[in-house]
Amino acid sequence: MPTYAEMGREELAGLKARLEAEHARIKARGLALNMARGKPGADQLDLSVPMLGLLATAEDCRAEDGTDCRNYGVLDGLPEAKRLMAAMVEEDPDNVVVGGNSSLTLMYDAVARCWSFGVLGSAPWCRLETVKWLCPAPGYDRHFGITEAFGIEMIPVAMTADGPDMDEVERLVAGDASVKGIWCVPKYSNPGGATYSDDAVRRLAAMECAAEDFRIFWDNAYCVHHLYDDAAEQDRLMDIGAACREAGNPDRYFKFASTSKVTLPGAGISAIAASPGNIAEIKARMGAGTIGYDKLNQLRHVRFLRDAEGLAAHMARHAAILRPKFDLVDAKLEEGLAEVGGCSWSRPRGGYFVSFDAPQGCAKRAVALAKEAGVTMTGAGATFPYKRDPRDSNIRIAPTLPPLEELAEAMDVFTTCVKLAYVEKLLG
Ligand code: PLP
Repeated sequence: MPTYAEMGREELAGLKARLEAEHARIKARGLALNMARGKPGADQLDLSVPMLGLLATAEDCRAEDGTDCRNYGVLDGLPEAKRLMAAMVEEDPDNVVVGGNSSLTLMYDAVARCWSFGVLGSAPWCRLETVKWLCPAPGYDRHFGITEAFGIEMIPVAMTADGPDMDEVERLVAGDASVKGIWCVPKYSNPGGATYSDDAVRRLAAMECAAEDFRIFWDNAYCVHHLYDDAAEQDRLMDIGAACREAGNPDRYFKFASTSKVTLPGAGISAIAASPGNIAEIKARMGAGTIGYDKLNQLRHVRFLRDAEGLAAHMARHAAILRPKFDLVDAKLEEGLAEVGGCSWSRPRGGYFVSFDAPQGCAKRAVALAKEAGVTMTGAGATFPYKRDPRDSNIRIAPTLPPLEELAEAMDVFTTCVKLAYVEKLLG
C-alpha cells in the first residue's frame, strides 16, 4: 500500500470521496463522545467512594495528635497528611505544605507570590520590565494559562523523550536574567508521557542561571500514576530536591502534586514541597490568606490511603482499569493510520495522555472534523504556549474518561478525521 503522500491526485480524490461519505455517516449518528480532558472514568472514581464514609463520628474527626479537625487551625497540614504527601513527592515532611483540592491553585499562588512579593529577598516580578518563562512543549495547557494570565512572556522549548531540550534551556537561562522559571511535568509528562532522564534532572538543578530567583516548577502530577508493574525499575525519576541540594542550589525548586487522579478530582488534597527557606516564606505568606485547608479531607485521605504502600496498591487498581484503554488507543491508531504515513504518537507507560502528531498542517482541521462528527478533542494548539503549534500537528488524546466501547468508537471517528484532513491537505 502506498502512503497517502505517495498517491497520485486521482487516487487521493477517490479516497477523499470515500472518507467524506464515511464522515457524513458518522455525523448522522449524532454521537457525543469526549476525549478532551484527562478525567478519570466513573469506574476509577468508584474506587474511592469508600473514603467518603470514613468520618462518621466526632471521634473519627480527631487527628493522631488529638486535633479536632472539625475546627479552625493547622495552616500547613496535619502531620500525618504531610507524611502521606511527602511520600508522594519524595521530600521530608517538614518541607511539605498540604493545600486544598487543587495543585494547580498552589502553582498559581506560587507564581502570584513571586509576582507580588518576590522570593527570598529578590525583587517582586511585578516590578520588572519583562518576566520570561520556559515552556517545554508540547506541554500542559493550564500551566501556560497561568503564566499567560500574569503577562509572562512564554518561550517554547522542545520536549524530547528525556525531558526538555537541555542545551536550549541552559542557553536561555544563562543569558537572560528575566527568565525566571520553567514548567516541568517530569514523570509521564502531559501530553507526551516522557519521564525526565537523570541527566536532564541534574542539568536543571546545576545549570548557571542569570536570575538568582529562577525557580523550577516541578509539577509531579503523575508521580504514582504508572501503567506497568515494572515502573519502579523502568520509570524511575531522579529527585529534583536532592539534585538541587547536591548542585548547591537548594532553593531552586518548588514541587507540586495532588491526589486529584488518585482519589477524586476536585475533592482531593494537594501539596507543595520546597527547601526549608522557601517553605518558611510560603507559610508566612499563605497565613495571610487562610487559617488552614480542609483537615477533614486530609484525614479521610490518610485513613483511606495510609502510606506509600497503600497508595501504590490503590494506584495498581487504577492501572488495571487504564491499561486496556491505552492499549486500545494504540491499537486503533495502528489499525487506522499506520499505512497512511506521516502520523506518529506516544506509547506512554503512565499518566493520562497520548500525544499524537498529525501530518504538518492537519491538526486543527482534524479536531474540527472530529467535533462536527460528535467527538470532542483537546483544542489543536492547546499543548503550546499561546495555543500556537508552529507545525499545526500536535493533538492530545485523553482516553481515560470514556468507557472502552465508547473509546473504540471515538478513536475510529478520530482516525477517519485525521485521514480526511490529510487528504484535503494533499489535494490543496
Ligand atoms: N498538573 C498536570 C500536569 C495535570 O495534567 C493536571 C490535570 O490534568 C493538573 C496539574 C491538575 O491538578 P489538580 O487537580 O491538582 O489541580
